[in-house]
Amino acid sequence: MIYQVIVDISNSEVDRVFDYSCPFDVEEGSRVEVPFGHRFLEGVVIGTKQSTDVKTKDIIRKLDDFRAVNAEMIALCKYMKAFANIRFCDSLRLCMPSKLRGGKVKILVRNYVTLEADKEIARSFVKNAPKQLKLLEEFPKGGEYESVLIGTYGQSAVKGLIDKGILHRENVQVRRKPLKELDGDTKKVVLNDEQQNAVKTILENEGTTVLYGVTGSGKTEVYMAVIQKVLEEGKTAIMLVPEISLTPQMLGVFRGRFGDNVGLLHSGMSDGERFDEWLKILRGDAKVVLGARSAVFAPLENVGVIIIDEEHDTSYVSDSNPRYHTHDIAEFRRRYNSCRLVLGSATPSLDTYYKAQKGEFKLVKMMTRANRRAMPIMEIVDMRKEVRQGNTGMFGKRLLAELDRTLKNGNQAMIYINRRGFASFLRCKNCGYVPKCTDCEVSLTYHKDENVLKCHYCGKKFYMLDACPECGSDKLSFGHIGTETVMEEIYKIFPQVKVLRLDNDTTTAKDSTAQILSAFAKGEAQILVGTQMIVKGHDFGNVTLVGVLDADLSLYYSDYRSNETTFQQITQVAGRAGRNDKEGSVIIQTYNPAHYVFRFARQYDYEGFFEKENNIRETTVFPPFSKIMRVLVKSEKEEKALVAARECYAALRKIKEENVGLFRVQAMQAPVKRISNEFRFQVVIWIRTDAEKAVTPRVYETAEKLNKKPVVTFVEVNPVNMR
Ligand code: ADP
Ligand code: ZN
Ligand code: ZN
Repeated sequence: MIYQVIVDISNSEVDRVFDYSCPFDVEEGSRVEVPFGHRFLEGVVIGTKQSTDVKTKDIIRKLDDFRAVNAEMIALCKYMKAFANIRFCDSLRLCMPSKLRGGKVKILVRNYVTLEADKEIARSFVKNAPKQLKLLEEFPKGGEYESVLIGTYGQSAVKGLIDKGILHRENVQVRRKPLKELDGDTKKVVLNDEQQNAVKTILENEGTTVLYGVTGSGKTEVYMAVIQKVLEEGKTAIMLVPEISLTPQMLGVFRGRFGDNVGLLHSGMSDGERFDEWLKILRGDAKVVLGARSAVFAPLENVGVIIIDEEHDTSYVSDSNPRYHTHDIAEFRRRYNSCRLVLGSATPSLDTYYKAQKGEFKLVKMMTRANRRAMPIMEIVDMRKEVRQGNTGMFGKRLLAELDRTLKNGNQAMIYINRRGFASFLRCKNCGYVPKCTDCEVSLTYHKDENVLKCHYCGKKFYMLDACPECGSDKLSFGHIGTETVMEEIYKIFPQVKVLRLDNDTTTAKDSTAQILSAFAKGEAQILVGTQMIVKGHDFGNVTLVGVLDADLSLYYSDYRSNETTFQQITQVAGRAGRNDKEGSVIIQTYNPAHYVFRFARQYDYEGFFEKENNIRETTVFPPFSKIMRVLVKSEKEEKALVAARECYAALRKIKEENVGLFRVQAMQAPVKRISNEFRFQVVIWIRTDAEKAVTPRVYETAEKLNKKPVVTFVEVNPVNMR
C-alpha cells in the first residue's frame, strides 16, 4: 500500500502530495511523522493507492491515536486548493487545533483509583496497617483521583492498597472544560407563528435558507428548534456567530438547551481547552458545535444543519492568511452532507439577499418582535443646523434632551460611535458634501503626503479642495472622534452619571469585554459609550435610548459596501433599544440627513434599501453584479515590488483583451503604501459573475508566478477594509 502524504510546511513548492510506504496500516486522515529530505516532518495521510513510480521511504510513526481529519475535510482541502488557491497544508491547519502540530497539546490524563475488592474481605488484609485501613473505610463511592487520595492519606497508604490489588488505578482523560462555572439558561418559550413557519421552512429546504428577521424577532429560538430536530434525526449541527456575540448569555442559552452535547470553539479559549473541545467533537461526544468563524471547520460527521447568525458580519471573512469566506466553506459542507444551511440576519448582506431574490436561496421572513413591541422610533437629527446655530459640540439638542430624560427615569442609554478604518475623508460641515470618485461612487481619501484625494479602488487622484464645491463654505473637516472624547464630553454635561466605554482599546485583556458588558447589564453605569463592539448580540432590558453620533462616518469608508455597512450598523444598534417591556427611542445624528441610507433605516425598510442599493451596484457593476479581486504585491525592495506589480498588471491586461469576462483592471499603490517596512502595490480587477469559474484560477496563477522572494503576492476576493 502506498500512502499519500501532505507534509506540514507552508511553501508553494512543496504543496503537493508525496508518496510513502509503511510497514504498518495507517488510516486516511491520520497525522504521521515522515522523513523529508534530511529532516523529519509531520504530515497528514490524505489518500492511499496500490503502487507508485517513485522510490518511496517508510512512514516513521503515527502521531496520534485518533484520525485528525475525516474524509469530508480532505475533500474540503482539495476544494479550497482548487477554488481559493489555498495550500493543502494551510487548509489542513485550519481543520485542527494549532497546537496539535508539534505535539504541543496533549490529552490530559490523570490516574483515577477505584475500589476493586469487597470491603469486608479487604479489611482482613490491612488490619495491621492503620493508614491503609482508614483509607479503605473512608474510600469514596465511585472512586477518586490518585493525587487527591495521596494528598489526604499519603503515598504509602495508596500504594499499599494498590499493590495488594484492593484498589485499582487507571488513566482517564480529564476534559478541560471552558466556562465550567456557567449556568445553563433553561427558559422555555412557545414559538409564535412566524417562528414556527421559519422552523418548518428551514427543515423542509434541503438547501440554503435566508432567515430575514428583524432585531428581536427571536431568531435564536428558531435556530435552537431547528437544531433540536436535527439531533432527533440523529445528525449534528454547527452554529456560527460573530466572535463578538459569543457572550456568556449566548453560551448559557445553548448549554441550557443542549447540555454537554455542546462543543465550543472560539479564540478566547486556552490551547488545552480548544484541543479538548475539538477532540470531544471529533469523537462524536458533542453533536452541536457553537463557535466563531473557525468553527465552520469543526470535525463533525453527518452534519444536518449549518447556521450562520448575523450572516452579514464582516468577521466571517478571514482577514489574515489563509483568506477564506466562511460562507464558501459552509456552502461546500452543505453540498457534501446534503444538509441545510441557514443564513440569518436582520440586515442580510446584499449578496445574500440578491441570491434569495433570484431564487437561488429560499427566503423566510420574521417581521415582528417576539415581545410584540414595535420597533423603536428612530429620529434623524440634522447636525448641519446645529453647526449653523453655533453648536459645534458632538451632541445635538435632541440627544441631550433625551439623555436627560432617560437618566431622570432611571433607565440606561447607549451611545454608539463609528470608528473603524484608518482613512480620513473630507467633509463640508456646512452642507455635508463629501467628494467621491467620478467612476466608482466611493468616497475619496485624503493623502496628506501628496496633498491629493484618492480613490482606493481605481487609484484616480483629485485635487485637494479648499472650499466646498456645493456651498462655497470653507468649513471642510476630516471626521474622527474617539470614545474617550465622547466620555469626557458626557461627564462635562452630566457630572453625576457613571459612564462605561467599550472599544478595541479597552478590551485588550481577554475577559474585559464581558466584564464591561456585565457591569453595564447590572446597572453599574447609566451610559455605555462604544464602537462596533456594542452593536451585537447583547440584551439589555433597561436600555431605552440609543444615540448614534456622526452616523455618516461609515458612509465614507472608501469601500463599495459603505452604504450597506452603515445601514446594517444603524439597524443593529437601534435594535438594542427597548428589548424588554420598556419603549425605546433612537437618535441618529448626521450631516447628511437626506441620504437614502437614513431614509430607509428610519422606517426599518430593509427591502427598500436593498432595491435602491442593488440598483446602484448594478449600474456601477460592483458585487453582486461582478466579482472584485485584488492582487496585493509587496516587498521590502520598493523597486522589485513595483516591477512585479507592473508585470501583474500587464498579464491581467492581456486576459482582459481576450474578452473572457475580466472587464476592468487598475493598478496603483495600496491604500497604505508601506506596512512593517514593506512597500505595497495593488492590482484590482473586476470579473463578470458568469465568468468567475474560468477567470479566477488564471488570476491566482498570475499572482503565484510573481510570488518569489523578495516579492510576496496574495489575492483577495471582494476585499473588506482594503489597506
Ligand atoms: P434576534 O436574534 O432575532 O434579534 P433574539 O433571539 O435575541 O432575537 O430574541 C429576542 C428576545 O425575545 C429574547 O429575549 C428571547 O428570549 C425572546 N423570545 C424569543 N422567542 C420568543 C417567544 N416565542 N416568546 C417570547 N419571547 C421570545
Ligand atoms: Zn458645503
Ligand atoms: Zn474610482
